[in-house]
Amino acid sequence: MIYLDHNSTTPVDKRVLDAMLPFFTEVYGNAASIDHDPGHDANKAVNVARNQIARLIGAKDEEIIFTSGATESDNIALFGVAEKYANSGNHIITSKTEHKAVLDSCHKLESKGFDITYLDVDSFGRVSIDAVRDAITSKTILVSIMYANNEIGTIAPVREIGALTRERGIIFHTDATQAVGHVPINVDECNIDLMSMSAHKMYGPKGVGGLFVRRRIPRVRVAPVIYGGGHEKGIRSGTLNVPGIVGFGTAAEIARNAMHDEKTQYLSYSKLFLDVIQSRVGEVFINGSMTERLPNNLNISVPGIESKSLVVQLKGIAISTGSACTSSSVEPSHVITALGHGAERAHSAIRIGWGRFTTTDEVERAASIICDAIQRVRALNLR
Ligand SMILES: *Cc1c(COP(=O)(O)O)cnc(C)c1O
Repeated sequence: MIYLDHNSTTPVDKRVLDAMLPFFTEVYGNAASIDHDPGHDANKAVNVARNQIARLIGAKDEEIIFTSGATESDNIALFGVAEKYANSGNHIITSKTEHKAVLDSCHKLESKGFDITYLDVDSFGRVSIDAVRDAITSKTILVSIMYANNEIGTIAPVREIGALTRERGIIFHTDATQAVGHVPINVDECNIDLMSMSAHKMYGPKGVGGLFVRRRIPRVRVAPVIYGGGHEKGIRSGTLNVPGIVGFGTAAEIARNAMHDEKTQYLSYSKLFLDVIQSRVGEVFINGSMTERLPNNLNISVPGIESKSLVVQLKGIAISTGSACTSSSVEPSHVITALGHGAERAHSAIRIGWGRFTTTDEVERAASIICDAIQRVRALNLR
């Protein structure tokens, strides 16, 4: 099986697993029970991980809140800000191409009386800074725009948005799940106030993630979504997933050192893959931007080919049609649809995600198998 769906999830890096293992059976203390050595050791390991993650994004250790993943982080950011700042206003700005964790939270907030602006994106999937500026009202409390899109890899003008929201005194949340560990991020340079992350998109384990919460200038406050023992500064109660957090931290450390070389590698894979596809099956459309793009993501539409029928023809390759979270429905992707190229383009989109352990040989084989499948589907369509 050639796994090329790394925007959906990544395997756990062996070095990450090795770092985690002792925390299941040897160092099994509760990180909140620091009256004894087992608890103290677990707490120490959590703090090392907090530092590793903070370093990756230019944050301070105490600004990292551990969660069960980016879905939970997005929920805390949206519901937590909505509740805390309800007295200042009820307007939130987001975009039409956000992950469902943000969009569905926004829909719920609408039913609670919040007013949500869903910004359009351009044909490359980018929100314009002018559109954000024009949408701001005296009631705007939060702008939530994803750092990089999970389907088309488009990177948002995060720095410009952050400069604008800071100037206007509005909180800026970004779902950076696809970007963290893949492209350099600095929360201070970009004036990010809240940022969602997930370990399993960067070679860490599933079920653990983080929320960056700015502590100073401004001090951002979020109401909890889960109540209990007051862990994680009261923002996220619940006994910490120590092995998972250790894995997340180790994954962050590895990514910080590897991301530069990986980018070069992935860009060469994308070029190789597109060269083979275009020479064998002719024109394909690239969804998203070629410049403002995650290096590990490629999303293409093959004219006249339904991506669902293509994937059925593919044996031994894992790629995705639209986002995995909605792949049980037959609706075309809301992201590709938002690019405005029409329904056919959305129905024919496939997403390919290179990973740390992808080899040149796998890229060549995958390109060849996908071309064979495209030719088979074309032959079937002619009959
Ligand atoms: C994967 C993903 C999520 C969900 O993360 P989980 O940790 O699986 O809950 C949210 N947002 C984006 C952009 C993602 O890619």
